[in-house]
Amino acid sequence: MYLLEFQDERDALIRTQVRTDRLQLLFRQTFFSVLGSFLAALMLSWLCRERIEQQIILYWLVLLGASTLLRVTLLIAYFRSRPDTRTPQRWELKYWLTLILSAAIWGGGALALMQTHDLLTQTLVLLFTVGMSVCGVSCYSAYRSMTIVSIGLVLMPCSLWLLFQPSPTQIGMASASLVFASFVVSATRKLSEAMEKAFRLTREMEYAHSVATHAAHTDELTGLKNRRAFFQQAERTYEHCKQNQLPLSALMLDIDYFKHINDSYGHQAGDQVLRQIGAVICESIREGDICGRLGGEEFALLLTDTSLDGARATAESLRQAIAQLPCRHLEGITASLGVATMNAGDQDVHMLLNDADKALFRAKAQGRNQTAVA
Ligand code: GH3
Ligand code: MG
Ligand code: MG
Repeated sequence: MYLLEFQDERDALIRTQVRTDRLQLLFRQTFFSVLGSFLAALMLSWLCRERIEQQIILYWLVLLGASTLLRVTLLIAYFRSRPDTRTPQRWELKYWLTLILSAAIWGGGALALMQTHDLLTQTLVLLFTVGMSVCGVSCYSAYRSMTIVSIGLVLMPCSLWLLFQPSPTQIGMASASLVFASFVVSATRKLSEAMEKAFRLTREMEYAHSVATHAAHTDELTGLKNRRAFFQQAERTYEHCKQNQLPLSALMLDIDYFKHINDSYGHQAGDQVLRQIGAVICESIREGDICGRLGGEEFALLLTDTSLDGARATAESLRQAIAQLPCRHLEGITASLGVATMNAGDQDVHMLLNDADKALFRAKAQGRNQTAVA
């Protein structure tokens, strides 16, 4: 997760994540209901088989089968796609199209079945379309508009047709289903708002957690690891290298006469030097290496898969890069470095860093701006 500086960017990121979460829920909830909707059509056709024309049933089931197949293909494609490509931009429209197609076929078929002069068939059809609407609520709860569209396409054609029939029973059935639909539509608002809020709160908490974790592990001034984070990771890397008998070297770096920089040019100039050196170190390390600011003007690096000679070469190139740093008002920044490599007698990473620290002490004693080897 990236940490963003501005509130607007953060809000935009969270909005995108919430949309992606809704989409994911939508696809997850749909899987069984897609097949369920086809099964419901099969069952309704079977129940009405002796009361209506077989050809209508056949056309309806074929069309519905094709649209179900299309939806299943879409679902499979979604779940087989890479998670980072499951974005609303890529999938929402396709989902909408298959939803409209299958809901329209369902509603159209139900309307065709309705047009018999048999009240039992009409009651059964209405019962099934109401049932389908309830399924729509549970299936599209993350997208209120989808619930409304699916109810509109499945339930409305039959209900409206019934409403304009002469018999009071038919009008009564239609009115009941319309009242029912209006309740469902209003309930979906609360449901989808609650879901959106839950998604947003989860993402905001995740974000706040990652900000806090990042702050707890990072040195604010240089952006490198702080002492705690450095040692946490250093211990793991040390154990890994020791177990796998991989070479590992440590490098300690201390800025020369830093107190003088602070005293002569102010604390802010000193801070700027720390930032510059942090950037030099950051550029010099490879993936797998660890670096951190242990405190004050002291930095440490752990170089994986690196022999003593390799570590000495890295230290020298760091020292030269620091000596060449541009700095206004200052005579020039230099640093002293100590390097050591892991040997069989070492027990932990602290011993290795201690060896490098002793070498650093020698570099200071021998005149600074140099590298000493343990
Ligand atoms: P040496 O060459 O022996 O290392 O001398 P030095 O002056 O670099 O070392 P010393 O330990 O005497 O001084 C370190 C100074 O670093 C003292 C302290 O005020 C300063 N310092 C520690 N943390 C910070 C910081 O975050 N910002 C700034 N600007 N100064 C800091
Ligand atoms: Mg110093
Ligand atoms: Mg020091």
